[in-house]
Amino acid sequence: MKNWTTLTADENRILSKHFSSGRQGHKIRYVVVHHNAGNLTIPGCYSVWQTRQASAHYQVDAAGRIGQLVWDKDTAWHAGNWVANCESIGIEHADISSSPWKVSEATLDNGAHLVAAICKYYGLGRPSWGKNVFPHAHFQATACPASLNGSQQAAYIARAQKWYDSVTGTTVKTSVKATTRKAAKKVGTLAVDGYCGQSTISKWQQVMGTTVDGIVSGQVKPSGNWGRPNLVTAFVRYDSGTGSNLIRAVQKQLGQSQDGLLGPGTIRAIQKHLGVSQDSYFGPGTVKALQKRLNDNKF
Ligand SMILES: [Zn+2]
Repeated sequence: MKNWTTLTADENRILSKHFSSGRQGHKIRYVVVHHNAGNLTIPGCYSVWQTRQASAHYQVDAAGRIGQLVWDKDTAWHAGNWVANCESIGIEHADISSSPWKVSEATLDNGAHLVAAICKYYGLGRPSWGKNVFPHAHFQATACPASLNGSQQAAYIARAQKWYDSVTGTTVKTSVKATTRKAAKKVGTLAVDGYCGQSTISKWQQVMGTTVDGIVSGQVKPSGNWGRPNLVTAFVRYDSGTGSNLIRAVQKQLGQSQDGLLGPGTIRAIQKHLGVSQDSYFGPGTVKALQKRLNDNKF
């Protein structure tokens, strides 16, 4: 999709026939989900629907690219039910296998994302199967949309809800960002005391352009061979070891592999970068050099 907010497809290939202009006074109330019963490209759908009395608003191909074939303001002929056609947006999905029918992960993800974007755009609420998202089979005796009303249905609607939540959560995220930006402003010149506390980490995050929360998150607990206690420890959040975005940004700048973990190898690279002795210990000498560097608003 070129733009989820404005519902701009990757490719517009608008049919010249086999749809009805306008919505006959109906409002868009739900999405109807279809499958191709085949693996069609966007131009492939265009050819089929130009020669057959059928159409849908969107096609999601096997690579997840989305084509628009009937404008949303017009009525596509997809549900086998006139009122349903007038009240809905029809989305077609390409199959990557026929026995059993199955759509690709890219098709599932982009189709679900499109459902979420449509629900948001037309104010239909959070995607819910049987409420504002229906299988074609709801309106007509048909096996369509096959896996999307069977083995892949739960995954499809869960993904649509995830996308919807991430879109509608935008305001929350913005306000959190504004708060951290406010907090970030408070970190001015650091005392060069060799203590890597919350303000030093915040300042470091500020300089590296990562989220400012004063915590090195996602760190794996150091193993015994570190010997000496690590000064960063108080501001490290230990979890599964998915790493910290701050450390990832540092590793990227230093040309290290970006696992986001402040391990001995990364500490040595930091020490080399700061021009202090490389003893793999993130101690006061290293932290003082870091603080001096950060006070010049660079790393
Ligand atoms: Zn169908």
